Amino acid sequence: MPLTQRSSWLDPDLDSFRELAHSFCQKELAPNHERWSEQKQVDRELWNKAGEVGLLCLSIPEEYGGGGGTFAHEAILLEEQAKAGDDAWGNSVHSGIVAHYLNSCGTEDQKKRWLPRLASGELVGAIAMTEPGTGSDLQNVKTKAIRDGDHYVLNGAKTFITNGAQAGLIIVVAKTDPNEAAKGVSLLVLETENAEGFRRGRVLDKVGMHGQDTSELFFDDVRVPEENLLGGQEGLGFIHLMQQLPQERLIIAVAAVAAMESAVEQTIRYTKERTAFGREIFKFQNTRFKLAEAATEVAVTKAYLDQCIERHLKGELDVTGAAMVKWWTTDRLSRVADECLQLFGGYGYMNEYPISRAWTSARVQRIFGGTNEIMKEIISRSL
Ligand SMILES: Cc1cc2nc3c(=O)[nH]c(=O)nc-3n(C[C@H](O)[C@H](O)[C@H](O)COP(=O)(O)OP(=O)(O)OC[C@H]3O[C@@H](n4cnc5c(N)ncnc54)[C@H](O)[C@@H]3O)c2cc1C
Repeated sequence: MPLTQRSSWLDPDLDSFRELAHSFCQKELAPNHERWSEQKQVDRELWNKAGEVGLLCLSIPEEYGGGGGTFAHEAILLEEQAKAGDDAWGNSVHSGIVAHYLNSCGTEDQKKRWLPRLASGELVGAIAMTEPGTGSDLQNVKTKAIRDGDHYVLNGAKTFITNGAQAGLIIVVAKTDPNEAAKGVSLLVLETENAEGFRRGRVLDKVGMHGQDTSELFFDDVRVPEENLLGGQEGLGFIHLMQQLPQERLIIAVAAVAAMESAVEQTIRYTKERTAFGREIFKFQNTRFKLAEAATEVAVTKAYLDQCIERHLKGELDVTGAAMVKWWTTDRLSRVADECLQLFGGYGYMNEYPISRAWTSARVQRIFGGTNEIMKEIISRSL
């Protein structure tokens, strides 16, 4: 029996799309986990393969090379990625975030220039907000983009950037007016090929998500043409960030609930196979109660997530709602993944068991996309 009810926003067309997403994730993601972990990144060709079957930029209009779908398509792909146990492929950043900055905030020319190349996988997208000295406090970024003729000269350093090692297009959060706080922030689109002064640092050694190329990036006098200023107007960066962050947070929430559901399903299976004291682990009352609690957490959390997805599909998910669903789902995921791992005993701590990856991946979700403390700050402002 499924742990949760069918999501209210699904329909038969989305069901057939799921078949495509499912077969791609099972064929192209699931078997490669260990190799990608070792090489600290996915194969570059994965992006082109996904582009060929139409799985990149699903909710970008067809006129710009996208799938012409909605956030529901993105959500299904995220669910299938979680079911395949994959935490390496940074497509949610590429398709769900970077492409949407371009689509919503870019000029017509910018959309035509970049979106088709993101949709085909020719370019991999990243967004660089976080700096070594500034994460939560985005108004205080130190990276500068100072106008010099028909170029901006970019200087600074970014860290923890998803897709950082492979990105060919990076949206860089920088100050065009360092004397201003939020009003001085702009978004500059850097095409990395032949960009003199741009350097990638280490792929960082993380606690989990070993196959994801989270990287440092450095900019030393990088000259970026003025036509790469997103939206063509200085000082709009912070407004653009505020507009786009709800979708980023909802994406994290979708992945969190899918991971939670998968963790509980794995644990039910495992505890019915493993025996101790002459009986299935599942038959101990503690196991059944823990799993009953976890199944309830999944069902309740998914009901609120579905409500948020519906609101987002109608363009009605606000900053507060997105903050609520981000902190709640990731917090529950951490708890559920931890309880599930416990029921695997020592095997739960072994990297070869997917439950161990669910646990390490869960931990970071309370941190990225805005920490859960920042989510509560945002929510409290509406009270
Ligand atoms: C795997 C991974 C992938 C990432 N991908 C990207 C990416 O693609 N692009 C990108 O730009 N960034 C990315 N990040 C960075 C991530 O968004 C930041 O780590 C996060 O926003 C927190 O910033 P920080 O690490 O500087 O922590 P800090 O801001 O230094 O926070 C430290 C602690 O202080 C708390 N705190 C800070 N301010 C307040 C406050 N006002 N009230 C209460 N508590 C507060 C925080 O909640 C946290 O607990 C990624 C990080 C990781 C780990």
